[in-house]
Amino acid sequence: LTQQLPDLLATAGAVITMDERRRVWHPGFVSVREGVITAVGPLSESPRDARRHIHSPTGIVIPGLVNCHTHLSRGVNRGFFDELSLDDWIRYASWPTVRTMTEARCYAGARLSLSELLRGGVTTTVSGEYGQPDHRAIDGVLRAVQESGVRAVVSRMAINSDDASIPAHFVPDDLRDGIASATAEVHRLRSRWNSHLVEVVPEALGVLRCTPEMVVALCDQARVGEMRMLMHVASSAAEVASCRRKYGVGCIELLAKMGVLGPHLLIAHCVWPSPPEIRILADTATGVSHNPVSNLSYATGIAPLPEMLDAGVRVGLGVDGAATNNGQNLWETMKMAMFLQKQRRNQPTWGSAELALELATLGGARALGMDHMIGSLEPGKRADLAVVEANDAGLAPFGTAVSSMVYSASPRAVQTVVVDGRVLVDGGRLTVWDHDDVIAESRTVALEWIDAAGIGPLFAQRTKWLWNDGIGPQGLLG
Ligand SMILES: [Zn+2]
Repeated sequence: LTQQLPDLLATAGAVITMDERRRVWHPGFVSVREGVITAVGPLSESPRDARRHIHSPTGIVIPGLVNCHTHLSRGVNRGFFDELSLDDWIRYASWPTVRTMTEARCYAGARLSLSELLRGGVTTTVSGEYGQPDHRAIDGVLRAVQESGVRAVVSRMAINSDDASIPAHFVPDDLRDGIASATAEVHRLRSRWNSHLVEVVPEALGVLRCTPEMVVALCDQARVGEMRMLMHVASSAAEVASCRRKYGVGCIELLAKMGVLGPHLLIAHCVWPSPPEIRILADTATGVSHNPVSNLSYATGIAPLPEMLDAGVRVGLGVDGAATNNGQNLWETMKMAMFLQKQRRNQPTWGSAELALELATLGGARALGMDHMIGSLEPGKRADLAVVEANDAGLAPFGTAVSSMVYSASPRAVQTVVVDGRVLVDGGRLTVWDHDDVIAESRTVALEWIDAAGIGPLFAQRTKWLWNDGIGPQGLLG
């Protein structure tokens, strides 16, 4: 009976389910109908046929990766701003590029970021995007997200602080949002772009770049509308110190006093929570995105990941935007999440490849409050999965493949990516966009964005090499 056939059947050398008992079927299968996983089990129980059959005797099927933090539009800003302090980055590099964001530039940036994320096995991504001064810039990101077929939570990041006493967190006048326009824009974007895969949500960027009134208003909007909410919190020791000076408490204690914490909220970074604040995050079921590579690049510290996990905090992993990472490689993030703690605690026995892969799948789904839908391969969940080809010099021999996947950190081993039952990467290639077109567009847009933002001198002065074209690395873009 053809109507009983699965739409998709993946048979492979191993299926890592990440189910309650953490079963691994070796060899195993996953079958899919109408975007939903219908069965998972040992190869001996596999259906014999399907409309589409992906067979990989040396492949490993994993739940699709969940990237809990990035800024998709920043894809084409990669490499603009290396070796800057966080404060200089924000004032001299970030604000000029935010000020010149347009729908077309953000579309190109998002296409590049999404291509890399999908190609590496990410099936769900979170992204924070500016909607000011050009309100339509974020529409470019959402158009790319919709075209890509990825599952996504995209926040509209609002900022409105005019407190000049904290220069690093002062927001220039033209980038400031009004509370009414911020909430209205979230409504506009949700009615235009929300779908079964995409959710637009509010974000108050941080407790210092937003007034308390903005934070509370966006939280109220999220609660009333049953939306998720995002924030950047305790990203640096300086941010926490400024918060203590201004409000007398740490960032997370402040949010607790405001009544903003809860399972609807996902906070990015959380590098400097105090021990009582870790307890508060666990008690309120607030999600955390741990972004170790981004934190390293700005030397902002190493988050207390083991302490948060021990306390029961819902932690996922994030790459952060290409302007502060610079790759969109969640495998590298998994590896760093483990290795950094071994060093920080002087404890080489801490962590494991299994823990890293769990955080990048089920952990991220829990942090987002989406673990009823995604994060593991179980009947009834949405069909988000990736097939990693272990027949690869970076991953062989097969018996150590889980360790190799995480500690070799090679996204290029991902051959197939499925979101909601739809194949978005096939044989290592994107099915939705022409690869050469995405790359060509990224070069054109990067070059004209540097000009528009007036950051050419900042970019060009970084090289100490003698370039015969007289332009330097910027010339490579043209
Ligand atoms: Zn961020």
